[in-house]
Amino acid sequence: MSSARISRALLLRSAPSPSPSATASLFRPRQLSTLGPASATRPQTTSSPTTTATLARPSSAIAIRHAQTPQRRHASTTHPKHPQGFEPPTTDDLAELRERVQDFVRRELTEEIAASVDRTNNFPADMWAKLGDAGLLGITADEQHGGLALGYQAHCVVMEELSRASGSVALSYAAHSQLCVNQLQLNGSAAQKAQFLPDLIAGRKVGALAMSESGAGSDVVGMRTTARAVDGGYVLNGSKMWITNGPDADVIVVYAKTDPDAGSKGITAFLVERATSPGFSCARKLDKMGMRGSNTGELVFEDVFVPASHVLGRVNGGVRVLMEGLDLERLVLSAGPLGLMQAALDVALPYAHARKQFGTPIAHFQLLQGKLADMYTKLQAARAYTYATARAVDEEGTVKTQDCAGAILYAAERATEVALDCIQVLGGMGYMEEMPASRILRDAKLYEIGAGTSEVRRMVIGRAFNKEYAHLSS
Ligand SMILES: Cc1cc2nc3c(=O)[nH]c(=O)nc-3n(C[C@H](O)[C@H](O)[C@H](O)COP(=O)(O)OP(=O)(O)OC[C@H]3O[C@@H](n4cnc5c(N)ncnc54)[C@H](O)[C@@H]3O)c2cc1C
Repeated sequence: MSSARISRALLLRSAPSPSPSATASLFRPRQLSTLGPASATRPQTTSSPTTTATLARPSSAIAIRHAQTPQRRHASTTHPKHPQGFEPPTTDDLAELRERVQDFVRRELTEEIAASVDRTNNFPADMWAKLGDAGLLGITADEQHGGLALGYQAHCVVMEELSRASGSVALSYAAHSQLCVNQLQLNGSAAQKAQFLPDLIAGRKVGALAMSESGAGSDVVGMRTTARAVDGGYVLNGSKMWITNGPDADVIVVYAKTDPDAGSKGITAFLVERATSPGFSCARKLDKMGMRGSNTGELVFEDVFVPASHVLGRVNGGVRVLMEGLDLERLVLSAGPLGLMQAALDVALPYAHARKQFGTPIAHFQLLQGKLADMYTKLQAARAYTYATARAVDEEGTVKTQDCAGAILYAAERATEVALDCIQVLGGMGYMEEMPASRILRDAKLYEIGAGTSEVRRMVIGRAFNKEYAHLSS
């Protein structure tokens, strides 16, 4: 039954413009989905006891949840965090979605593509249309604009599986589908949604979100970009730093000070369109240690006119848009390190069982067993935290700031550790660029910095406790 829901959702999404490309297979009813030749393109290293058969079935983690979690589906709810008529997906829905994304990855985001994206530091431009055709760019968005209205657990599933294949493609995906599309979904007027969402969700346009500045990262409210009110709109001046998809973006959610003397109460969010914004430019594409191919840029605004109709949310109400957006951004991004940890296990487990030293598979040495067990346990614990937090959003409409920060804090730090362990398990081969272990480590480290650093996340959690226990401190 639930499997039919995902099929229906994806079929509905594909209905207006059936894709002739291979991605169309994603829309077929489950029984018609075939692994196709692409199954052979997944690296051998991906088969592991944890995911046994990621090539044909949902990962064992999901299978475990199936066994442990009774099917639960609450009555239809309409919460501000969700589109009209949203119904939380069941575990079967999510497992079905995971299979569909794995199918997509096998065809369109193979290890060869992921390695080449990393090597060339270039995002494969045709990936946007493929992700759009597959229905993956509007997971949390209104169906009337082409979205799937499947919620945050589903978005985490997609993010996890894309990250497992390529950390950098997945990071760009999240900047588009969460930071831009979901911000529009949550805060856009009916006219803004109708104007921007269909092209973004179809992958015809690329989205980004620009908040950070070279002098205002952790202290984002200290931003210096200004938006001066003029006849019919605002004029933006300033610059933004480290913006994911910045070099390619057509539509950018930009935060600027409309009342610079009012501190956090003087920030407004704007929708800036590259095509109609003279004075807007990407000054440079940044060269990074990891997440290579997820194009990151420095953006410049020189007297850029933005019409009043492109204010996102309330004038001077930008901090609410920003902070609420950050909670959900941290939640969905926490699935990135999950995918990277799974990728590390996909590499380490088969290698450790195939590689012999002293006449014995190295996986049979207890010191290495301990490492593999720790890698697996960290992944499963992080996974449980992320999906429990996402489930609370889907089923209760509860967005708990400390859990959104906690989920990514925990997953990100564990992912760096797991990636390092993966290199150690592989020995000399772990240090070679011909294996994906180095890429996984370089990609994983970003998650301790982007969307607020680990230190800031701890601060956010601490502040939540300060609020809760304020009555004892006075
Ligand atoms: C690859 C990449 C992609 C990004 N994508 C985007 C994007 O799409 N959009 C966007 O707006 N931004 C983006 N960012 C920016 C990112 O959010 C910031 O880099 C991040 O918030 C940290 O800010 P910062 O770099 O200025 O570091 P700083 O704030 O200068 O921090 C430096 C160090 O000081 C610590 N620190 C700072 N303040 C405190 C404190 N009060 N207590 C304790 N320690 C503290 C930090 O934890 C860190 O360890 C991206 C960054 C990267 C690297």
